[in-house]
Amino acid sequence: MKKVLILEDEVNIRSFVVINLTRAGYEAIEAGTGQEALDRLAENPDIGVAILDIMLPDMDGFEVCRRIRAVSKQIGIVMLTARTQEMDKVTGLMTGADDYVTKPFSPAELTARIDALFRRIGGDSNTSSEMLIQGPFVMNTRNHTLEKNGNRIRLTQVEYAILKLFMQNPGMALSREDILSAVWGQDYEGELKIVDVNIRRLRIKIEDDTSNPTYITTVWGLGYKWGA
Ligand code: CA
Repeated sequence: MKKVLILEDEVNIRSFVVINLTRAGYEAIEAGTGQEALDRLAENPDIGVAILDIMLPDMDGFEVCRRIRAVSKQIGIVMLTARTQEMDKVTGLMTGADDYVTKPFSPAELTARIDALFRRIGGDSNTSSEMLIQGPFVMNTRNHTLEKNGNRIRLTQVEYAILKLFMQNPGMALSREDILSAVWGQDYEGELKIVDVNIRRLRIKIEDDTSNPTYITTVWGLGYKWGA
């Protein structure tokens, strides 16, 4: 199982991350201080990605990042930043990190970032992770194709990204905001309606009966859920 270290001193946030990482199929290793994080890493050299909070009791997350980078170039590093911190300072000190996520973040967003990092660092190279197989659907994440009952379905890049998000989070209710930030990026300033427009098109392509969708179901007042 792929290991992810979560360094966060706030227990509520850490538990929230652990639950979501576990649900996404990762083994979560916890640390509450910078020193604990470095100890856990020394014990588990196969950790693929580390999520580092910045405000910590013993040292700041940037220092932890520097110390990790001093011994490993391979590991993926995601910084957790608070909105109140000046982004200039954060990005200026980010040289050793691969990505950052701003609090508050959605589970789908964080998981998508971790998945992306594992792909980038080459930790996602086994064949099983290249095929997402659910119900009648087979998604090949290497060549970005989708088949339903063996028949190729042509998707736009955005439709593909939405469907992949669903297939990576089966049964999980995803809000329009989750989908927007995971697919369009968290800086995207557009309207949530773009999500509905794409879901409508996606349903026409993949549902047996578009007026009674069973794969992408509506979660009233929230968003959508994948139920293949
Ligand atoms: Ca903190």
